[in-house]
Amino acid sequence: MKSFKFSAVNNPAEAITLINKNTDAAFLGGGTNLLDLMKEHVALPNEIIDIGNLSLKEIKATASGISLGALAKNTATANHPLIRKNFPMLSKAILAGASAQIRNMATNGGNLLQRTRCSYFYDIATPCNKRNPGSGCAALEGFNRMHAIFGWTRECVAVYPSDMSIALSALNANVKVLSSERERIIPFQDFHILPGAHPEKDNSLQHGELITAIELPKNDFAEHSAYIKIRDRNSYAFALVSVAAGLTLNGNTIQAASIAMGGVAHKPWRALNAEAYLKDKAATAANFAKAAEAEMALAQPLAHNKFKIEMGKKALINALETAFKGNI
Ligand SMILES: Cc1cc2nc3c(=O)[nH]c(=O)nc-3n(C[C@H](O)[C@H](O)[C@H](O)COP(=O)(O)OP(=O)(O)OC[C@H]3O[C@@H](n4cnc5c(N)ncnc54)[C@H](O)[C@@H]3O)c2cc1C
Repeated sequence: MKSFKFSAVNNPAEAITLINKNTDAAFLGGGTNLLDLMKEHVALPNEIIDIGNLSLKEIKATASGISLGALAKNTATANHPLIRKNFPMLSKAILAGASAQIRNMATNGGNLLQRTRCSYFYDIATPCNKRNPGSGCAALEGFNRMHAIFGWTRECVAVYPSDMSIALSALNANVKVLSSERERIIPFQDFHILPGAHPEKDNSLQHGELITAIELPKNDFAEHSAYIKIRDRNSYAFALVSVAAGLTLNGNTIQAASIAMGGVAHKPWRALNAEAYLKDKAATAANFAKAAEAEMALAQPLAHNKFKIEMGKKALINALETAFKGNI
């Protein structure tokens, strides 16, 4: 591992002042992703600013919903009574990720900013535009079973790995960010970005910005929501395909559907075609299947991941059926 300077800070202003002095510095949350990347020589910060002491750990009800502190641990968030009751989809998504030990360390802010698990990104002997801009994409013609079927470019076919973020996308969360100039709120759909020509950038956060909280607006589909994750083994594995779905129902009629997919794109993929199809339709198996068809018709698979189309359809149908049946 490359040597680096280590500082610990006690308030957000101190953290922001320090990071603004050094474009090669990085914040340290739980360290479960950053330290792995440093050990593999993929991330090479020369300074680490430990934000673990900041008092951004509260999970609390607000007038508009619930606020999750950026430094609250994933375990504390998933198990919090307010989350289990009002946002069970989020609780399930977090608990479907990583392992108990990792969730005990991982923070909410760090979870959003975890980097892709593309094996070529981790292998510094191979070209990767995300790790080394302009070097090429080894996954495009390589082994791309885990990779994107939506929104990819020839520059990058990697997928975004966070389970938590797939639920946050379906929940229309907002990310609260502080810099030396201002506080800003980034709608979740605009937080992560598609690769375009610059896959080195995963999200719209700027250097010098600190995530302070994630805000969850109230919704009326807590009892009719689901998170389905399909993976190679039942623990310690990233999603091949995942679906977060919430249904606002009037009897058997779907007033609105909120659906996001994971494991299929460079960002949480909002299933807008499926949502549009389901609006004002009866909640029937036939309509769930047609919604899944409408979404997956847009897929552009790579050489080794055509199976994700059928898997995506089945996961969408399963999530919609589970949401319709309701949480007990
Ligand atoms: C073996 C293994 C299996 C895993 N499986 C899964 C899985 O199945 N599903 C899943 O979703 N995840 C999985 N993970 C990933 C895990 O969820 C992430 O590593 C974790 O959420 C990252 O949080 P952290 O606090 O440790 O982040 P860190 O590693 O501390 O930080 C990650 C990044 O965020 C930045 N950062 C952190 N906090 C802030 C902040 N408040 N403001 C601005 N920048 C910040 C850091 O500078 C760094 O760039 C797995 C990880 C491992 C090691």
